[in-house]
Amino acid sequence: MLADKDRIFTNLYGFQPWNLKSAQMRGDWDKTKDLMKRGQDAIIEEIKASGLRGRGGAGFPTGLKWSFMPKEPRADRPSFLVINADESEPGSCKDREIIRHDPHKLIEGALIAGFAMRARAAYIYIRGEFIREAETLFAAVQEAYDAGLLGKNAAKSGYDFDVFVHRGAGAYICGEETAMIESLEGKKGQPRLKPPFPAGAGLYGCPTTVNNVESIAVVPTILRRGASWFSSFGRENNKGTKLFQISGHVNTPCVVEEEMGITFRELIDKHCGGIRGGWDNLLAVIPGGSSVPLVPAAEIMDCPMDFDGLKAVGSGLGTAAAIVMDKSTDVVQAISRISYFYKHESCGQCTPCREGTGWMWRVMERLRTGDADIGEIDTLYDVTKQVEGHTICALGDAAAWPIQGLIKHFRPEIERRIRDNGGVLEAAE
Ligand code: SF4
Repeated sequence: MLADKDRIFTNLYGFQPWNLKSAQMRGDWDKTKDLMKRGQDAIIEEIKASGLRGRGGAGFPTGLKWSFMPKEPRADRPSFLVINADESEPGSCKDREIIRHDPHKLIEGALIAGFAMRARAAYIYIRGEFIREAETLFAAVQEAYDAGLLGKNAAKSGYDFDVFVHRGAGAYICGEETAMIESLEGKKGQPRLKPPFPAGAGLYGCPTTVNNVESIAVVPTILRRGASWFSSFGRENNKGTKLFQISGHVNTPCVVEEEMGITFRELIDKHCGGIRGGWDNLLAVIPGGSSVPLVPAAEIMDCPMDFDGLKAVGSGLGTAAAIVMDKSTDVVQAISRISYFYKHESCGQCTPCREGTGWMWRVMERLRTGDADIGEIDTLYDVTKQVEGHTICALGDAAAWPIQGLIKHFRPEIERRIRDNGGVLEAAE
């Protein structure tokens, strides 16, 4: 179990105030200027060496991503850092805790990361529904300006850097990086085709890197304590500590910082008081937020909770938001409800997603009630395969994967419903 002395987020539960004075007492903004003095390339190398991978779901190596930004930005084409605080994935609830209780970690991280990638400013795009969190963030940014930590000669480093907070309007798709850029530009939040990638042409057509809140907030601590400290946690290719968010049928749902690669069983027993009704009552887990396939109880129990561990059981770490379902769960209904969510949030610009998400949800609803014939299970699976990988952004995949996971692991349950409803059990020729 991660020792308290190795926690990055020391005020995750808000036992102390979030303000600048308290943050400084916790070690934030301590000699930020000296960290920046190491130089841009040295900071990027340190982050690369730490093994930090993006905490927003995709898991792309953070230092490598920064290194794609131009080394000498043109005056008429400044570089930008965009911080994704949209956190709309069902089950995910970590970035809001950072913003509520430890916003200065994020703001200091924005300055250092922005400096490392030679950005002129950072835009923090915060989800519209996060009203109190946005208030805290606005106030914390103002505190940093008042203390000379942002703006001209930020933190006396000689580097000019601004941080702007932008409130979204609550669309899930604005959490996709290019849709977020469109939204920041004042347009409808619809993903762009890639390439060009944001590092080449992003916000206002300028070089841009989009990072998740947690990825940026851990940067100052990694630099202070060193890449080797951070990479001493977790397994090869899955380094560091991570905020896990556990919801559903556990005794004490929580958000907790833990070492990457902790087994699911250890995570639940140590931090969540065990599964409701005991381990024999566990049915399945969606381990990384609603867009990843569910994993049945037997396969998840001793699985390491990291990128490779969850990939090996046919799922993904995503945002490390584990939705735990015990045997009282109607698993077909649960996945059908997730299908409805993706249908509702599709931006509608590509056909497989616009038409496919609605179609998949309607078939899921019939499977839920058993009003279907057996051949439709395979037809549905086939359609998920036609949506997956054939759309502009990953929402198509996110809609397809939960259904694929359900069919793979719970086909007998779907067939039982069709049988009980008097449906046709033989596949049509
Ligand atoms: Fe929009 Fe869906 Fe296409 Fe993404 S996959 S761009 S959400 S229609």
